[in-house]
Amino acid sequence: AKTGNRGEYSFFTRDMADDIRERVRLLQALRHAIERQRLFLVYQPQLSLDTGHVCGVEALLRWRGDDGQLIPPDRFIPIAEHSGLIVSIGEWVMRTACRQQVELAQQGFPQIRMAINVSVIQLRHPQFLRSLSEALSESGADPRCIELEITESVAMLEADFISRMLDQIKALGISIALDDFGTGFSSLSYLRRLNIDRLKIDRSFISSITSGGRAQRIPELVMQLGQTLGLAVIAEGVEVAEQAAALSLIGCNEAQGYLYARPMESRMLLDWLRART
Ligand code: C2E
Ligand code: CA
Ligand code: CA
Ligand code: CA
Repeated sequence: AKTGNRGEYSFFTRDMADDIRERVRLLQALRHAIERQRLFLVYQPQLSLDTGHVCGVEALLRWRGDDGQLIPPDRFIPIAEHSGLIVSIGEWVMRTACRQQVELAQQGFPQIRMAINVSVIQLRHPQFLRSLSEALSESGADPRCIELEITESVAMLEADFISRMLDQIKALGISIALDDFGTGFSSLSYLRRLNIDRLKIDRSFISSITSGGRAQRIPELVMQLGQTLGLAVIAEGVEVAEQAAALSLIGCNEAQGYLYARPMESRMLLDWLRART
């Protein structure tokens, strides 16, 4: 902090003021982008390491700016969450991803799971369950093929609320994955209580899996935890064959990452899927 001209301590530094201006600008641009339908979804395949089959796809949000450049979700999702815009964006994501699941089924891939990222701001919204079941019923999506990804750190907040929420989501026939697993300090007793289906090992642990260091053992621990609790495990951010081999070795049977495919737009995804079969 800097000392202002009257000698008092000013709270905002120049950098913070710039930062706030940038956020306000982005928020206005985001509102505009929603109106003009500049948001879209891309889909990244999730593969079985045993068979090479595609088990699922993860829907990931993209924003094309006026200059044609993509604005990464890590930049605009925090702003959307802060402003509450994530609620309507998230409803659109759920509807669109559910329709895409139906499209996949109609194109000959009825067993492919559609994973949808959900923010805690959405979960806390009183209309969340209604929006979710409407997305299902309007699209005709198969709930057994819909999975919600909730970050581990979020699931650890407000334990009773989240745990009841997950029960209600599961009652719709939808499955739940804990995203970025290993970064959120879950307690084992709490994990056992949560009605979840899958642990998604965070990318940071996959990138160090062949390092030879102690961090290398973390995915193995997650595998053991998954086995103990009866949960499936998937690895994210698999970029090289050595990582996939190391995962196979510890019994991890699903993976997602640039090694297999980048996130793709709907049309490309269908071409990609057809080319594999
Ligand atoms: P996430 O849910 O952990 O998604 C995985 C991120 O890793 C994606 O980044 C994906 O493109 C990227 N990725 C996949 N494979 C690889 C790889 O092999 N190497 C590397 N380095 N990266 C890989 P993306 O699409 O930029 O999304 C960033 C984050 O934004 C997501 O992290 C998620 O937290 C959030 N997000 C994306 N779409 C949505 C959405 O529809 N709703 C909400 N609430 N959050 C979203
Ligand atoms: Ca995710
Ligand atoms: Ca993740
Ligand atoms: Ca992440």
